[in-house]
Amino acid sequence: MLTLSPEEISGIGMTSQRTRNRMTSRLRESGIVDERVLYTMATVPRHLFVDEAMASRAYEDVSLPIGEGQTISQPYAVARMTELLLSDGGVNKVLEVGTGSGYQAAVLSRLVDTVFSVERVQSLLTRARRKFRALGYHNIHVRYTDGSWGWASHGPFDAIMVTAAPHTVPAPLLNQLAVGGKMIIPVGREDSQTLTVIRRTRQGFEESQHNDVRFVPFLAGKT
Ligand code: SAH
Repeated sequence: MLTLSPEEISGIGMTSQRTRNRMTSRLRESGIVDERVLYTMATVPRHLFVDEAMASRAYEDVSLPIGEGQTISQPYAVARMTELLLSDGGVNKVLEVGTGSGYQAAVLSRLVDTVFSVERVQSLLTRARRKFRALGYHNIHVRYTDGSWGWASHGPFDAIMVTAAPHTVPAPLLNQLAVGGKMIIPVGREDSQTLTVIRRTRQGFEESQHNDVRFVPFLAGKT
């Protein structure tokens, strides 16, 4: 089991509170307005979710490699998606597809009651799970699966956040969205995707388009 000293959690030098606050100031300048999101991102230790060799860059507004050809999302993308997810209130139970480093799930876990997160790469999932334990983030539940299928036994979800980009929205995910709930998902080809919000109403689904984004591709199957 991974154990962390208070120094490691709080960060030293390049990972200090001042460095984190600089990150949230930049997010604010980029248009993030939800204070809960900004506060949470100033407190969740992002440097623990990147490779040690990259820790000094953890609070820059860039995506970074996490192994297996995957990346931890850029802080702006995490902030924007979280802000969109929370914007109408009433979000208790969230499904995240694409656990990756675990950082997005960690941020969500401080803002909602329960986070269910699924990942198709076993080694990433194992690492993320250890971090959640070490940090005491006990309201995150993970599963090794192809996220195209969601996690039906825990649905319906108040919100679903997909952190890899499919060409089209997988139907099982739509089915696991509660009425009144919403999905935040980057949709498109590898070089051009649009952050899309899909709301489920009593009548059906309503879609709105937001930022242009660049996520790693949503892939089928498990590895
Ligand atoms: N939320 C992550 C972002 C990681 S990148 C973070 O904060 O670090 C996207 C992740 O989605 C990768 O780890 C990739 O393996 C995963 N992924 C891609 N397609 C998937 C699928 N069909 N099911 C589950 N996870 C998937």
